[in-house]
Amino acid sequence: MTILILGGTTEAAELARHLAERHPGIAAEISLAGRTSTPKPLAVPTRTGGFGGAAGLAAYLTGRGIAAVVDATHPFAAVMPFNAAAACRAAGVPLLALRRPAWIAKPGDRWNLVATMAAAADALGSEPRRVFLTIGRQELGAFATRPQHAYLVRSIEPIGDVLDGLAVTAIEARGPFTDAEEVALMRAHRIEILVSKNAGGSQTRAKLAAARSLGLTVVMVQRPAKPPVETVAAIDAAVAWLSHHGLVPTDRGV
Ligand code: NAP
Repeated sequence: MTILILGGTTEAAELARHLAERHPGIAAEISLAGRTSTPKPLAVPTRTGGFGGAAGLAAYLTGRGIAAVVDATHPFAAVMPFNAAAACRAAGVPLLALRRPAWIAKPGDRWNLVATMAAAADALGSEPRRVFLTIGRQELGAFATRPQHAYLVRSIEPIGDVLDGLAVTAIEARGPFTDAEEVALMRAHRIEILVSKNAGGSQTRAKLAAARSLGLTVVMVQRPAKPPVETVAAIDAAVAWLSHHGLVPTDRGV
């Protein structure tokens, strides 16, 4: 009777830590896609790599005797949530999505909302701009056809060669960042426009406050569609759901 957490996020790591610390007798495991070469250590056993689509995941659920799945993948993971929904339906395993709320614009924010990374690249315009890309590395290719801009790219992993030939400064860093650090970075690189995914959460929120205080436009990429699955935003709500399914004892004072 193992709980499978589909991970790659702070929330997945926090849920794992909660289960390991509060309910050490309960079997739980985290699955990672394997995109990050040195992931932070996790509190429960970890498996890495894809399952082979929804059918592969369904077979894994049955084979491993998985009792419930918590899909705590990143809000911008576009495929895995649908695979999880299909696999859990096929295997008859209960599924919960644990998803942090999106950021909401505050007074003073200058957000240009776009639906896709291609639209974000379009939104930079034809005139040369100094652009700060904080979108990770997987979708940088959308900017390869916009050589007129100068880019500051921040990612956890090296960005590879996808933007070779363009004016790029690449920095590798993992949040959290402070407002002051973000202001200093944007000033040092004379940033004119910020591109962000609406990831939500506190780890990387400071860039938005920094852009607000500097009066910069933020091109904000909206989240991809998700399947209609029961969804919670907080660890305690996920634990309550697991309790409801009889998988962890009723927990007071999360
Ligand atoms: P995706 O497009 O939804 O998934 C692509 C494929 O990667 C899936 O079909 C699956 O392969 C495999 N996969 C994804 N998440 C997995 C997991 N937790 N365990 C095992 N296999 C997984 O996802 P993505 O955008 O490539 O993101 C991959 C991972 O990075 C996710 O765990 C996500 O939480 C994390 N992440 C993503 C972003 C982002 O902006 N997209 C940002 C930060 C972290 P199979 O079909 O073979 O099972």
